[in-house]
Amino acid sequence: MSNIKVIVAGPRGKMGKEALKMIHNQSTLSLVACIDRKHEGQSVKELDGFPDMDAVIYTDAATCLSEVEADVLIDLTTPENGYKHTKLAIENGIRPVVGTTGFSEDELSELTNLASERGVGTIIAPNFAIGAVLMMQFSKWAAKHFPDVEIIEKHHDQKLDAPSGTALKTAELIKEVRDPHKQGHESETETLEGARGADVDGMKIHSMRLPGLVAHQEVIFGGHGETLTVKHDSIHRESFMSGVKLAAERVMELDVLVYGLEHILD
Ligand code: NAP
Repeated sequence: MSNIKVIVAGPRGKMGKEALKMIHNQSTLSLVACIDRKHEGQSVKELDGFPDMDAVIYTDAATCLSEVEADVLIDLTTPENGYKHTKLAIENGIRPVVGTTGFSEDELSELTNLASERGVGTIIAPNFAIGAVLMMQFSKWAAKHFPDVEIIEKHHDQKLDAPSGTALKTAELIKEVRDPHKQGHESETETLEGARGADVDGMKIHSMRLPGLVAHQEVIFGGHGETLTVKHDSIHRESFMSGVKLAAERVMELDVLVYGLEHILD
């Protein structure tokens, strides 16, 4: 697969900057445009600190996605805008690779139906780090043997959605093998609201937000006289880019929406 033409939405963001670097440093993808909230009509190479890439910046996503000849949209923005961009891309026959997290279940199912109707391959992955995908798969495996489980996810304090898409995805995978049941003492009460975290079928998710963190998760299982912890740390946003690259290549072979990087890993 060579020369896949890519539009990046959110190029000034923490993830967007890494995506531009990744595209710049390899040969299968080429950047043809960006969608940003600033710098209308400028080229990426004119911006301070950006790679030497000749790609025009659009502030209007609809114009960009209808005018630019592109194969793939990589979206790394915010939940509300990411959803709009993904829908517009599918409508214009451009395959979305979405790292943006925080879509609702309704939005995901609408996008799934739209992608199938139009036959436009789409990949939405709450976590593009290969290690995180393995952490989720190991957790699903462990939950067959340890049905009592709590998830602690830790992120930088600029993250907009909680719990993280990764924590929700982990809980969904565990739900596939775990019968719903309330954990903790049956008469347990919270003397401070939120102390026990968010609830998914009786399992708990706790979200921590602190400066200095990137993206981290522990899935802790409790058994008789033992605990098991499955833990993953993204210590740099570079960790997500091999998954983004793989998704941009694999999405070219799809005609439906795939949710989760695990479905495209060998
Ligand atoms: P960030 O640093 O806040 O970057 C978001 C960027 O999107 C900002 O530059 C923002 O511009 C831009 N933006 C907002 N609305 C836009 C619009 N309508 N058009 C174009 N650009 C727009 O956030 P981040 O840390 O890079 O994360 C981005 C997303 O990726 C989040 O949803 C995060 O949860 C997710 N994420 C996913 C993974 C994964 O592996 N799937 C990993 C890490 C993060 P302004 O600066 O002007 O607001």
